[in-house]
Amino acid sequence: MIRFDELGLNPSVLKSVAALGFETPTPIQAEAIPHVLSGRDLMGLAQTGTGKTAAFGLPLVHKLMEDHSRPRPREVSALILAPTRELVNQIASNLSDYVRGTRISVEIVVGGASIGNQIRRLKHGTDILVATPGRLLDLVERRAVDLKSARFLVLDEADQMLDLGFIHALRRISKLVGTPRQTLLFSATMPKEIEELSRAYLSDPVQVEVAQRGRAADKVAQSVHFVSKADKPSLLKECLGERPDDLSLVFSRTKHGAEKLMKALVKEGFSAGSIHGNKSQSQRERAIRAFRQGDIRILVATDVAARGIDIPGVSHVYNFDLPEVPESYVHRIGRTARAGAEGEAVAFCSPEEFKLLRGIEKLTGIPIRIASGEAPAGGYRSSAGKPGGRSGNGQRNKSRGSVHANAAGGRGDAKKTHRQDPGRQQRSEQGQPSSGQRRRSRSRRSYEAA
Ligand code: AMP
Repeated sequence: MIRFDELGLNPSVLKSVAALGFETPTPIQAEAIPHVLSGRDLMGLAQTGTGKTAAFGLPLVHKLMEDHSRPRPREVSALILAPTRELVNQIASNLSDYVRGTRISVEIVVGGASIGNQIRRLKHGTDILVATPGRLLDLVERRAVDLKSARFLVLDEADQMLDLGFIHALRRISKLVGTPRQTLLFSATMPKEIEELSRAYLSDPVQVEVAQRGRAADKVAQSVHFVSKADKPSLLKECLGERPDDLSLVFSRTKHGAEKLMKALVKEGFSAGSIHGNKSQSQRERAIRAFRQGDIRILVATDVAARGIDIPGVSHVYNFDLPEVPESYVHRIGRTARAGAEGEAVAFCSPEEFKLLRGIEKLTGIPIRIASGEAPAGGYRSSAGKPGGRSGNGQRNKSRGSVHANAAGGRGDAKKTHRQDPGRQQRSEQGQPSSGQRRRSRSRRSYEAA
């Protein structure tokens, strides 16, 4: 097994690694770090929980230290883009560990926080800026930041950035960042739009892939309860009541639904909090901190708010509502079984959601064990929706957790990947109808959030 000190990282970075207690590199780190150090562009197919932040963060810090010159006023040397405030905070917090004892500075830029403070902090130049795309463009327009001297660009959770409708922002930002530069793009899934994005952003990239695309995390035991929508809250309370000491993450499709559910749980005596788009950043951060420290045992979240959040020790992920986009299921259940731990993913599927369940099994290629309730008469796995339906090229038989490194574009299976409607998940989270729902509910005055 390869060791960190064999990857070519400088002693200061190795010291940070040791201080963090990382003993051996994870597969994505072992594969990606030497390529990043050698200056290659990289397309990384990896979910959160695989150690991908250190896979790009450690060599980035190494490279910035190599020829460190103070950035000029308002300029940045490295730009990292991520889809949500939480993820930006998490990446920046990891980077702060990696740069300890060095002169490298890390700043963050996110929406929902004071823009005046951000302008002040960027004034003297920044080594590494971690940002959400929208607020970054605001700051560029106000001439508070200049990206042209950035030598490194990282796009993290690129598929989620597209889901959130950031494609135009990404296109604009790509023209603002200087060349030559080294670009690293990470995505858990490979929809067609990501291929397009990688063609626009990357030059002769090496591709590193950890675990199969759309594949559920290795150690997650998955099950599904067939239950009516009305019975879901009592079933959830029953499940949570059986495991009072566990840390459980509960996913709701809408922010209103998340809040309602959290309140119902608290009323029943459960220690629960919630994170979703209606909460302020400080409220979300408080809830995540309380959950991470075990002060609350249950966190009810929407996909967007929970995206990429790293909370060690989550033993159960409940899919109280099934996600509209099957890829979101993979992201959700990736919140458990992190760093080698065992985890359980429990889905609640109402009759209205059979189709969504079929889509999930089709994407992951794994039939989900039925824990209780009855599947619809005739089964929900129609011939078109049989698990593994997208694996006609033999992809499904590949061993999970394997690492592949090859030139991007060389994999013919990417075209089979599920196409997503950018903004669909965001509409869904905001309680807005998808285009299909809009068509179906034309006669209805308002959409009822779950
Ligand atoms: P990430 O995929 O970057 O969100 O990382 C997931 C978790 O794995 C985080 O809690 C990291 O601190 C942890 N981690 C990353 N690299 C290693 C490593 N080499 N050994 C042990 N834990 C790690």
